[in-house]
Amino acid sequence: MDAGTKRFLYQQMVWLGIYFGISVAISVLVPFPYSLMVLIPVIFGIAYYRRYRFMKKAGQQGQMFGNPFTQKGIDYYCISCGTKHSKAACPNCGSKMKKAGF
Ligand SMILES: [Zn+2]
Repeated sequence: MDAGTKRFLYQQMVWLGIYFGISVAISVLVPFPYSLMVLIPVIFGIAYYRRYRFMKKAGQQGQMFGNPFTQKGIDYYCISCGTKHSKAACPNCGSKMKKAGF
């Protein structure tokens, strides 16, 4: 089991504990039929918040890993003769001036 999986499982345990703690606290504070009416929105609220946080984190990672791939899609054109190339200098005229294009 790697460190990432261990951390994930640990977080799951922590969240399980938090859910359990909230359930017990609400059951103690609020009488039974009403405790469910309080508990369900709270649990859904936390689940939504966790999902939002996860999506935000995943989105940031996606951007981080996504950039090198999008940059690969950019072509460079020689300013002097317009030849499309990906080298430092133009293979056609030797000019080092180039502009990026999609
Ligand atoms: Zn050129």
